[in-house]
Amino acid sequence: MSRLVVLALASASLLGCVDQPNLSSTGGISFEEFKARMYREPSTGLYIIDWDTVVSGDDALREVWESTQQGALAVYSINGQDIVWSATQKKQLTYCISNTFGANKQAVIAAMTAASDTGWEKLADVNFTYVPGQDANCTAQNTNVMFDVNPVNANGQYLARSFFPNSPRSERNVLIDNTAFQPGGTGGISLGNILAHELGHTLGFRHEHIRPEANATQCAEDNQFRGLTTYDSASVMHYPQCNGTSTTLAFTQKDKDGVVLLYGAPINNPSPMAQVTAPANGATVGTSFDVEAQIVDTDLVKAELSIDGTLTSTLNTAPFTFHVTNLAVGAHTLEIKATDGAGQATTQTINVTVAANGGGGGNGSGSGTGSGTGSGGDDANGLGDDVYGGCSAAGGSSAGLALLVGLVGLARRRRR
Ligand SMILES: [Zn+2]
Repeated sequence: MSRLVVLALASASLLGCVDQPNLSSTGGISFEEFKARMYREPSTGLYIIDWDTVVSGDDALREVWESTQQGALAVYSINGQDIVWSATQKKQLTYCISNTFGANKQAVIAAMTAASDTGWEKLADVNFTYVPGQDANCTAQNTNVMFDVNPVNANGQYLARSFFPNSPRSERNVLIDNTAFQPGGTGGISLGNILAHELGHTLGFRHEHIRPEANATQCAEDNQFRGLTTYDSASVMHYPQCNGTSTTLAFTQKDKDGVVLLYGAPINNPSPMAQVTAPANGATVGTSFDVEAQIVDTDLVKAELSIDGTLTSTLNTAPFTFHVTNLAVGAHTLEIKATDGAGQATTQTINVTVAANGGGGGNGSGSGTGSGTGSGGDDANGLGDDVYGGCSAAGGSSAGLALLVGLVGLARRRRR
């Protein structure tokens, strides 16, 4: 690597100093672990530390714990206050990628995905969400996203730069210099890992090499940080040229440990559960009818109805009742697609036949009207039974989640 400074300093100017925390045997443990080790006086509820000193309440104890933390990732901290996202914000880190990247845009999309979906989100309970609908207007003024990703001409002064959680919207940008796209321009570090480093800043992490253990006086910044784990010379947040030991900036175990201390462990987020409840698969319906779906998910973004492969309607919240009007007589395919905040999609497809006077109005209300007579909008086979065949269910981008298709007809099923 010919250039000394290949990675960006965060945009915020980091001035001022706070006292450095002391190193102790409790460095690198979470507050909950620290608290569990403390003796609490049964009669008063006071914590007793250092043999004979009382500490009243969890807030005061947290201050004691913070004073002992020296450790891998270092979070931006000013006067004892961590600069981090709230529990709500950490799940809503939305961004756009400017169309002005031109031919490089696809590479940026792939790298951002590597840095977020298969990067930080695999390590901790945070969620970055790409919003392509804002790409055409992906500026620092766009308040429909938390931050924007844009090209910059920094003449190679840096490869990329980002921001901290306390940055105002106008400064919440991830900017990528042209050199980051040039083979050999990054010292062998992938664009995905460069952006993983930048997204680390957006989560509140300082450069790991500003910790005294790095002994990197050539890379000095300031002391506004709190160590979360012990020093990690190979951290994604450690510049290689500042006495770092990683030339790839790949994530380390300590990176995971540190981000989990700050934001919690990742929560398993399965793709949405989506079932069409009406009409029944194979039903004969009238030209106008409702398609009803039952969708269960913790971070659902949208539910879409497509008819014969064409998107016709989108709903964002329950009830998921799609009104279909004046559909042509004949056979049709109806697909429901549910998409969550992680971009995971579940689809279910049913087939119906539209008859001019079909289905007795065929509104497919799912209210258990199946009379077994073969009319009234029930299954064409008149059995009012479980639905077999013709349905498909699949997990989208994630490992294929197979839903139990046989459950679709359950609500309509008669007890016998
Ligand atoms: Zn940096």
